Amino acid sequence: MKAYDGMYIDGAWRPAAGPDVIEVVDPADGQVIATVPAGTVEDVDAAVRAARAALPAWAATAPAERAARLAALRDALVARQDEIARTVTAELGAPLKLSQTVHAAVPIAVAGSYAELAATYPFEERTGNSTVLHEPVGVVGAITPWNYPLHQIVAKAAPALAAGCTIVVKPAEDTPLVARLLAEAMHEAGVPAGVFNLVTGLGPVAGQALAEHPGVDLVSFTGSTAVGRRIGAVAAAAVKKVALELGGKSANVILPGADLARAVNVGVANVMSNSGQTCSAWTRMLVHRDQYDEAVELAAAAAAKYGDRIGPLVNATQQERVLGYIEKGVAEGARLVAGGPDAPRERGCFVRPTVFADVTPEMTIAQEEIFGPVLSVLRYEDEEDALRIANGTVYGLAGAVWAADEARATAFARRMETGQVDINGGRFNPLAPFGGYKQSGVGRELGVHGLTEYLQTKSLQF
Ligand code: NAP
Ligand code: MG
Repeated sequence: MKAYDGMYIDGAWRPAAGPDVIEVVDPADGQVIATVPAGTVEDVDAAVRAARAALPAWAATAPAERAARLAALRDALVARQDEIARTVTAELGAPLKLSQTVHAAVPIAVAGSYAELAATYPFEERTGNSTVLHEPVGVVGAITPWNYPLHQIVAKAAPALAAGCTIVVKPAEDTPLVARLLAEAMHEAGVPAGVFNLVTGLGPVAGQALAEHPGVDLVSFTGSTAVGRRIGAVAAAAVKKVALELGGKSANVILPGADLARAVNVGVANVMSNSGQTCSAWTRMLVHRDQYDEAVELAAAAAAKYGDRIGPLVNATQQERVLGYIEKGVAEGARLVAGGPDAPRERGCFVRPTVFADVTPEMTIAQEEIFGPVLSVLRYEDEEDALRIANGTVYGLAGAVWAADEARATAFARRMETGQVDINGGRFNPLAPFGGYKQSGVGRELGVHGLTEYLQTKSLQF
């Protein structure tokens, strides 16, 4: 067990103001693997002051030089790839292969994409007799969750730095170790002191202090809708900019004529990956009544095959929460065809890959984000019915459509109230804007759209 005693503030690891620590637990076996400082209001204040002090020089740094630091950051992450993967496996519980191919690899791609965007984005443009300047918003306060612990920080820090902003990050209490590795990579990349700062701590203490700090110009939050709503209210009261990436209950719509086996298998894999702890997961599978029984059989078989290949949930609270949802599904009359509400192992926060059939749109398991390896399969009568069901939640983050041809799938996708739709198994694109319609959030991350979140415009008339 390692006891870390510093937080990365103003370019160095500095001791915390208070004595409290957070225990980091491996959810696969319940062992405490490390402790990190539980930052307080004072630590957050020191970090925000450092970020403010560093802002004028970083904002005035040529975009090409900011791009060079981000390219060096990407290289530093590449050099630490294995350490990052092992760390995410230890603190989140993700299988090592997933940690390598997703948790370590995606942030490298995202850092690289912002190295390129910083170098090429037109930070000045002409319109009529005006020059429009795209200037950094200022100091960013970033509050991030544990489910993709490095990605979610890099998806905020890389565009913020590309834009010329400085940043203070408060990572999730469950996954502070990979955040520390990112701070080390920033240091190695030659990012100037105060441009990137890290305060570990608890949400209601350090997170809240960061969201409320008058020295923060933009609060960027990823996590639950409940906390996001509060952060939005705090930011609005201070007339601060805010970006919110919240939950989802995304629909995987399988239209008649689609390759049913492929659509079901990819759909199940999408839900089970990362033990279901993915905000954009397609947790509702919508199947035409004529193919419904076949799809349920395929889904149950696909889920059963996962067995031990999914990792634990991040902590015991999430495990209980998810098992509670499975019990609720049974109580409301859905039919279990794979998995169930019993924990599969004595130790570790495991939940069985679970599939429910005969789920109707008003059931809790069809409406609320479960954030575990639980798929609901719903039946529809025709395309209009499928659309009504797909759009019938408060969320709108992601989704999928499968059809015999792309044109038909695309026509359906255009009518979905959601921020992203994968057509016939389209691949993840780290440059595509990611974010929510409806209560799934405010703002977009990744690519050019993610960069513009961190910019504000000034017009000069000539
Ligand atoms: P959460 O509480 O919303 O945590 C997200 C981040 O916000 C963490 O850094 C958290 O700190 C911080 N936080 C908590 N309370 C805060 C407050 N009052 N002020 C400022 N910051 C605060 O999410 P969770 O409890 O870890 O997970 C609960 C549910 O959220 C999940 O079951 C899932 O449905 C949803 N979730 C969604 C996403 C997503 O990507 N959309 C990600 C994670 C979770 P602590 O770590 O100290 O709590
Ligand atoms: Mg929490």
